[in-house]
Amino acid sequence: MESFRDRMIAIAEEKDSRIIFALDVTTQYSRASEMDLFLRLLRLLNGVAGHVAGVKIGLPTILAVGPEAVYRLLNEYEWNVFFIADLKLADIAYVNGLVLRRLRELGFDGAIVHSFIGREKGLEETVSEARDIGIGIVSVVAMSHPGAEDYINKRFEDLVRLSMDVGVDGMVLPATFPKYISMARELGYDSVIMSPGIGPQGAEPGEAIRHGSDFEIIGRLIYGSDDPASKAAELHKILRWVR
Ligand code: C5P
Repeated sequence: MESFRDRMIAIAEEKDSRIIFALDVTTQYSRASEMDLFLRLLRLLNGVAGHVAGVKIGLPTILAVGPEAVYRLLNEYEWNVFFIADLKLADIAYVNGLVLRRLRELGFDGAIVHSFIGREKGLEETVSEARDIGIGIVSVVAMSHPGAEDYINKRFEDLVRLSMDVGVDGMVLPATFPKYISMARELGYDSVIMSPGIGPQGAEPGEAIRHGSDFEIIGRLIYGSDDPASKAAELHKILRWVR
């Protein structure tokens, strides 16, 4: 079976795009708002899907629209993108495995897991469970917000080595601290890197790619714009897979 890593690269090449669209749109709770949000997600994806390789759906959106709507969104349309669930899992491997199984059932191709949970009964077993389930794992090894420098980013090197050892499909490394992207490449990591932090968090489009990242994760800059489809088209021109 094609690995998640190979699937990400194949779609990126086919669509000539290095963009992963981050969906964190949400709404206040009510039955009607669930349906409104579902329709908004459909409109957003209709406008943006042609320009992006992947779509990362975050907890705010999954909680607000509900799992049934997520299932419909991922399975009843032909988007030709890979879907990543961003719940930033950080539990024991057994519980991570339960969540990963459900995420696979909903139609996700990959899921984001924190690497700071450590190896034994942590990241190692989570990755092997994920292989059995048929879902890819992308590990967070450094974060993009300023407070990330307090703790998690300080252990960046250990977290890169652990992630490499257990064979994750990809790593999340911040566009806002691009030195970590270059350092991960220098440490010999040659699989997929995806980087958030473009736009509202301060990094320029293209910054992470220049430092060795494969994908830029872009949320508010696209879905917060007056015309998300045009914004995605504009970013697509800058973030081509092949130059
Ligand atoms: O809207 P914006 O482009 O800032 O969204 C960035 C996305 O990347 C969000 O979904 C956020 O959860 C995610 N992310 C991040 N920093 C990390 C890991 C993920 O900003 N280290």
